[in-house]
Amino acid sequence: MTPGVRPLVAGNWKMNGLAGSLAEIDAMRRAADAGESGPAELLVCPPATLIAQAAWRIKGGELSLGAQDCAPEPSGAFTGDISAAMLKDAGAAYVIVGHSERRALHHETDGLVRAKAEAALKAGLTPIVCVGETQAEREAGQQAVVVLRQLRGSLPAEATSETVVVAYEPVWAIGTGLTATPKDIAAVHNGIRALLVDMYGARCGKIRLLYGGSVKPGNCSEILPLDNVDGALIGGASLKATEFLAIAAAYR
Ligand code: PEP
Repeated sequence: MTPGVRPLVAGNWKMNGLAGSLAEIDAMRRAADAGESGPAELLVCPPATLIAQAAWRIKGGELSLGAQDCAPEPSGAFTGDISAAMLKDAGAAYVIVGHSERRALHHETDGLVRAKAEAALKAGLTPIVCVGETQAEREAGQQAVVVLRQLRGSLPAEATSETVVVAYEPVWAIGTGLTATPKDIAAVHNGIRALLVDMYGARCGKIRLLYGGSVKPGNCSEILPLDNVDGALIGGASLKATEFLAIAAAYR
C-alpha cells in the first residue's frame, strides 16, 4: 500500500456476463455501500453491453463502474468500435486499456494503448493502463525491461496520480492460477513507482499501482499489503460477487 492512496479493487469480467449477471453487480453495490471493502474503492468492469443497465443499478451508490476497452478515435467510421465518450455517456467512470489479451489477440501496440488512454482522459474517464511480461520474456531476464518499456510507450503524457491507474499483470499469471511471488511483485512495483517519478515527477508519485494475475481470496492477503501495491485487477474471481468481495474484504 502507498500511504495516502485509496486502494482500488477492480473486477474485469472480460467477455462474460448476460443480463442475469446484473444480480452480481447488485450484490457488489450493496457491499460497497455497507463499507465491506474498508477504505478501498470497488470497481466492476462488465462487458460494454451491460454498462448502461449496470449504471442505473449502481446510481447513487459506492460501487464504481468501468469498461474494458475503448477506441482511440472520438467518433467516425469505425464499425463495431466504442468510443470513450460513448462509455462515459453510458455511465462508466473507468476504462481498462492495453490488457494483455488485447495486446496479444488484437495486436495492440504501446502507441495504440497510449492513444486509447489519451482518448479516455479526453472523455473524462480514468484509464487503467495494463503492462506485463510474457513467460518467455521473463525467462530471458527481460521482465523489468519489458514492463518499463511498455509503461514509457503506453502512458499518456498528461498522466497524474488522480487521472490514471497502472496495472502490472504478468501475462503468465493471468487466468492460470499462477501468481508472482510477493518478492517479485514488490520488486516490479517499486521499479514502476521509481520510473513514474522519474518520468513525471511528483505529479505521478501517488498513481495507483494494481497487481493482476490470478488474485484469489486465498492469496490476496499476501499481495495487497505489499509496498506500492494499491489494489488488484481481478479477472476470474470477480465474476461472482462472493469471491470478489472476499478479496476486497482484505482491506477491512
Ligand atoms: C485479468 O484478466 O486482468 C486477470 C488478472 O485475470 P485473472 O484474475 O483471472 O488471472
